[in-house]
Formats: sequence, structure tokens, C-alpha cells
Amino acid sequence: MSVDPVLARLAHQPGRLSYLGSRYLLIRPETIVAMQRAVEAVLGDRAAECFAAGGRAGGGKAMADLPGEPAARIATLLATGSSIGWGRFALESFTADRLVVVVHESPFAEAYGTAETPVCHLTRGVLESLARSVLGDGWTVRETECAAVDAPACRFEAEPPRERAAR
Ligand SMILES: [Zn+2]
Repeated sequence: MSVDPVLARLAHQPGRLSYLGSRYLLIRPETIVAMQRAVEAVLGDRAAECFAAGGRAGGGKAMADLPGEPAARIATLLATGSSIGWGRFALESFTADRLVVVVHESPFAEAYGTAETPVCHLTRGVLESLARSVLGDGWTVRETECAAVDAPACRFEAEPPRERAAR
């Protein structure tokens, strides 16, 4: 079995894990999901946006460090997501006005269990940063299918600013 290229470049000092100069940490999905459920208990549906904001912050930082053409940046971000254990990321489609990403085995869906609405808001936030980086400001991402809602995989579709405003 070959060593994952991202994991091979993780640097470790006591108390500090980093990848290409950015600090990372390992955290159990259950920890994130417990936090998510606690925020949901207080904020209801508005909790989703809090977690998406967290995903956007991390994703925005990752995108800022990525050079290259949009297709290359997408490929790198999806490969990195897979490497660091956020599920198996695959690009379903990318054009000038379309970005769809499918994630198999989302750790968030798996830890959450069964839900009535999609639960992978952190991943959605990261992909929103990706969508804004390659499609433009104001794009959002919707999780159209989620493994926590009885789908085989989670599916994320970018939506242009005007569609969102029209809702
Ligand atoms: Zn999901």
C-alpha cells in the first residue's frame, strides 16, 4: 500500500501537526457532531449556517494557498479532502456555471446517524469556498443528497447568487 501524498508531508512536532506550513489537528467526527447537535438544540435550522461558516473559513485558507488553474485547484482540494479523511471526494461536473461534487463515506454523516435533512455543513462550507474561488463571489453550495438522509453518498451542488436571491 502506498503512502498518501498528503499524509507523507504532514510534519509533526510535539503538540503541533502541520501540512505545508498550515496547522492541522486530528479530531473525532463524534466531537464535531456533538458540537453540531448542541448548536442545533439552541439555534435550530440556523445552526447549519454556523458550521458552513466554519467550513468556509478553513476552505478559504486552503484555497488561498492553492496555485494553478481552476480545474487543477479543484482537483487538489478534492484530493486533499480525501487524504485528510473527510470522505472520498469526486468531481461530478465542472463547467463555467456548474460545480457538483460527490462525497462518499462522509465522516459527519456517518457520525450523525439518520437525519431528516442533510448534515454535512462543514463540507458544504469548504466547497462553498471552492465554488467562490473558481466560479465567482456570491456562489453558494447546497447539499442536495446526504448519506444521513438515506442517500448512497453526499452530493453538493453550487448555486449562482441570483438563484439564491430568487428563493
Ligand atoms: Zn452529507
